[in-house]
Amino acid sequence: NRRFVLASRPKGAPTAQDFRLESVKVSEPAEGEVLLRTLYLSLDPYMRGRMSDAPSYAPPVELGGVMVGETVAQVVASHHEGYVAGDLVLSDSGWQDYAVSNGTGLTKLGSMAKPSWALGVLGMPGFTAYMGLLDIGQPKAGETVVVAAATGAVGSLVGQIAKIKGCHVVGVAGGADKCRAAIDELGFDACIDRNAADFADQLATACPRGIDVYFESVGGAVFNAVLPLLNLSARVPVCGLIAQYNAEHLPEGGDRTPLLMGAILVKRIKVQGFIIFDYAPRYPEFFKEMSEWLAQGKISFREDFVDGLENAPQAFIGLLEGKNFGKLVIKVADA
Ligand code: NDP
Repeated sequence: NRRFVLASRPKGAPTAQDFRLESVKVSEPAEGEVLLRTLYLSLDPYMRGRMSDAPSYAPPVELGGVMVGETVAQVVASHHEGYVAGDLVLSDSGWQDYAVSNGTGLTKLGSMAKPSWALGVLGMPGFTAYMGLLDIGQPKAGETVVVAAATGAVGSLVGQIAKIKGCHVVGVAGGADKCRAAIDELGFDACIDRNAADFADQLATACPRGIDVYFESVGGAVFNAVLPLLNLSARVPVCGLIAQYNAEHLPEGGDRTPLLMGAILVKRIKVQGFIIFDYAPRYPEFFKEMSEWLAQGKISFREDFVDGLENAPQAFIGLLEGKNFGKLVIKVADA
């Protein structure tokens, strides 16, 4: 069993040395347990938080502990009455080939065209996009919705759901190729390259009626460009702040809090953070509607597959630099 453990806590951006590949004997499942073989491993930005011991909403990975992660796995041996060999499950096996489970946290895969979708469009990222946009963002037809990391797992779905709801959708992405795909493949009205020198001006031009919903996933320079464009009664679901996940210190320069608080007050902006766990009871509602949209061809979903568990650290480092194009998934083994 190959597995990646946390070798050291990163200082700034994670490096390959922060991960250690180990090889251990595959454990035998005891009575009431199953042995799982990982087929797909999801790589997600939150894992950067788990590598750090700063206080957060979930405990950190221990030094020497297996890196956490959701997986689609196949039951290879079962001493558990709920599972038989061959079953496909959603599991939190982490960054390893095999794991033993007593069934806690395991779910049999629902009906879906591709098992890997359980980690993407029909899984945690899709659920996050759906609830963050619809429950907190409350987009109305004709409103302008801006979403960053626009071709990523969450952002690509936020924008497409906003289009289904009749909104004017403007994406922000890193690079011309991603921006073109946001328009051509995802149907966004516009998409602005966050690396452009005149990024803020281009964003303002693409949002002639201001911004009603800003789905916040990145923070930093993108948020600075968005803030002056927010309309009266704008909504800002705060989903993530990836631009600052590697930061060791607060940014240099003047304190912008008064500017932000002033805008929130004067424009009566609703800013609400959320962690998708809290919505768990509403997963069936999401699953039903997203499955229908997929079947109707209203949602397209790009997956960025990387072959081989051994490539997980490099792929994860790339995720925090915008190298992924779509939902990043490690293909660990064939079914
Ligand atoms: P993505 O597939 O969108 O990949 C991350 C993307 O972030 C990169 O491709 C890159 O896109 C963008 N990015 C990276 N660094 C920066 C930067 N410095 N400035 C601006 N953009 C940057 O990841 P996910 O869809 O899985 O996650 C998106 C966000 O949602 C993350 O912030 C994540 O933490 C958050 N999240 C929150 C959840 C919650 O419960 N609150 C649940 C799930 C996700 P590009 O180069 O195109 O800009």
